[in-house]
Amino acid sequence: MIKKVLENLKKNNMEAYLVETREEVVPLVEKLLPAGAVVSAGGSVTLAETGVMELLKSGRYEFLDRARPGITPEEVQQVYRDTFSADGFFCSANAITQQGELVNVDGNSNRISALLFGPETVIVVAGVNKIVTDAEAGFERIKRVAAPKNAVRLGCKTYCRDAGVCVAAEGGLATGCGSKERICRNYLVSGPQRIPGRIKVILVNEELGY
Ligand code: SF4
Repeated sequence: MIKKVLENLKKNNMEAYLVETREEVVPLVEKLLPAGAVVSAGGSVTLAETGVMELLKSGRYEFLDRARPGITPEEVQQVYRDTFSADGFFCSANAITQQGELVNVDGNSNRISALLFGPETVIVVAGVNKIVTDAEAGFERIKRVAAPKNAVRLGCKTYCRDAGVCVAAEGGLATGCGSKERICRNYLVSGPQRIPGRIKVILVNEELGY
């Protein structure tokens, strides 16, 4: 199944790499993106677990850090805008389908915006636990796994934070909770890409993130 996902990501004009362990991710990233590049990142447990966040903060790259100590809300907004002209953007995926599509949902939508357009290169790091059969299964994974866990991580006051599952687990994308802190607002399925190789997916043969 992993082989099929890799083949289909490539068919969809994304570069696809498989590494066996999380320790292999940073050396691969260093090969894919030269030192000195301007980089940015979406919030991601996987990036933390693989050491990529540490790499971004190490000084090897010029990191647009929206979480740096003392940053003001205005400066955070500027980081989001500067990200569009970055050399590299890092994130994970909420799900990856067997057809080689990336499925993501955002509340703020800075992450999916950068995935869609702007940064010259996007590097997606994901564990094999993110693989699903199709986009529908990806949405279900978001409602049953990713969103509830992220709501706990981020301390968002949503139904799923307390119940462990979306209030509309069986419903469509527009349904769900009415919380002001709702974290699933814009859903994105990334299929065949216009720019070959702009999106690079590093699949790790481990369970990572949620
Ligand atoms: S719609 Fe609300 S309850 Fe459902 S997964 Fe999203 S944040 Fe959680």
